Amino acid sequence: MLKTHTCGELRNTHIGQTVTLAGWVHRRRDHGGLIFMDLRDHFGVTQIVFNPATSPDAHTRAYDLRAEFVIQINGAVAARPAGQENPHLATGAIEVTVAQLTVLNESKQPPFLINTEENVDESLRLKYRFLDLRHERLQRNLNVRHRAIKFMRDYLDARGFIEIETPILIKSTPEGARDYVVPSRVHPGTFYALPQSPQQLKQLLMVSGFDRYYQIARCFRDEDLRADRQPEFTQLDLEMAFVEQEDILNLIEGCFTEMVRAVTPHKQLLAPFPRLTFAEAMARYGSDKPDLRFGMELTDVSTLAGKTQFQVFATTIASGGQVKGICVPGCANYTRKQIDELTELAKAKGAKGLATVALAAEGVKSPIAKFLTAEEMRALIAALAAQPGDLLLFVADQPAVVAGALGALRLELGRRLNLAPQDLLAFAWVVDFPLFEWNAETQRWDATHHLFTSPKNEDVPLLETDPGRVRANCYDLVCNGFELASGSIRIHRRDVQEKILALLNYSREDAFARFGHMLTAFEYGAPPHGGIAPGIDRLVALLCDEPSIRDVIAFPKTAAATDLMTDAPSALAPEQLRELRLAVHA
Ligand code: ASP
Repeated sequence: MLKTHTCGELRNTHIGQTVTLAGWVHRRRDHGGLIFMDLRDHFGVTQIVFNPATSPDAHTRAYDLRAEFVIQINGAVAARPAGQENPHLATGAIEVTVAQLTVLNESKQPPFLINTEENVDESLRLKYRFLDLRHERLQRNLNVRHRAIKFMRDYLDARGFIEIETPILIKSTPEGARDYVVPSRVHPGTFYALPQSPQQLKQLLMVSGFDRYYQIARCFRDEDLRADRQPEFTQLDLEMAFVEQEDILNLIEGCFTEMVRAVTPHKQLLAPFPRLTFAEAMARYGSDKPDLRFGMELTDVSTLAGKTQFQVFATTIASGGQVKGICVPGCANYTRKQIDELTELAKAKGAKGLATVALAAEGVKSPIAKFLTAEEMRALIAALAAQPGDLLLFVADQPAVVAGALGALRLELGRRLNLAPQDLLAFAWVVDFPLFEWNAETQRWDATHHLFTSPKNEDVPLLETDPGRVRANCYDLVCNGFELASGSIRIHRRDVQEKILALLNYSREDAFARFGHMLTAFEYGAPPHGGIAPGIDRLVALLCDEPSIRDVIAFPKTAAATDLMTDAPSALAPEQLRELRLAVHA
């Protein structure tokens, strides 16, 4: 080793020892004759001192050291002079007096400073990711990622799971996104698809009798650009045979609870994880991935509202819609401009407008007051359990629009009012999703989760009569407003799978061409099975308090799916295209 200790290791107990350290020049301060430097490596920072009186040679050469030079030093560990200790630094009690200095490598002036939290343009950070990753914050994030994944591996290993790798070059595995494809040179004109998830393969492993599988799996989805998506991402993919929904929920709940305690013990959890049906989540929070860190639930006032003389309310109820409201604490004095902003947000979610009631100090202020009797207004306020100083927001529309608009307002106001406790990870289960959702664009049913998800037994008769009401054996794990995992109990019978494929509009031939291997496998004693796949990037981002998943991935792509460091994607040379028998059209 080129060092005896790491830069995060030395303490009071090492005083008097001679040590060798190696690392990067982090910061430097010249104090009269003495030169102080912080020497940095993955493990921390240690103060080193160049003293002209004791080591004139090293001291002279220290003048040439610049930020990010890689050096090796040898010297004695000394107590820092009284009053100079740094309690915020693990090594803050000591310093190393340099006797010998070796420069292992020089560095150009980096394009940005390492370890300042100043706002460096993210594209510059991504272009020089190898430097960006030197930041303490990113080093820490990747450490947390490692420890979280290791915890999961150990937890599953202890429970009889085995890790099995599945191929990256496969046939299309639909998860609702576009495939990334890879041309075959050997079979010109044909293509592999990169897995959107190992879904089919893990099910086939259950048919093969493996009983409990998991994999830290990379998934590839060519989705439309969204702020915080990555074209490739990592899942803890798992599958179990002979299980019911309850077994999977308990396994993951246990694993995540213990993982958070072990990896980020300062975080709090809701225990046990609350469970909501999809219908309840939509009704109470206006979202199928509710943020349960705070209340401000949606309250249904349809019955009350339908009886008033306010036309907007009355006609909405008469046409099968609903009226719901949220109570925003302490915001009765919101200005016209602030209300306008909230109205715009509601409109962006499809609402026609926003009805407001402010319980101001001088009395109730509301543009709809003139349409309501005093009694009706009192009842409305009571329904939302509003207190003086609160602001009530109402949306009248079809249920989906009401949920979308009030759900978005709830999140926005929760954020503005800082309602979410900082260190709370509010994991919760959302269950009983509908099996299908109607796609108005294509005029057909889509699978809500994926097409291998089984319907609830008691709802099977509805497949023939009312597919939209069939509930699925499917569950999501949500946390702080993010969907962290989806899973389901699968179909394991060929006839049921064929029926679902037919409902999803696959012809028999098409179904066989695409999923023949699954249909065939189900004919050879496929056991009942189910699984789930938590997304690791978002999970780690939540553990690390990082808003962006890019900051917990070593080499992420931009929101436009490009890699600024290696400059991918890039054009192929003409010979490569010829070899693949591909032509590129402008
Ligand atoms: N393959 C699913 C997904 O990626 C997860 C699962 O059903 O296990 O969402």
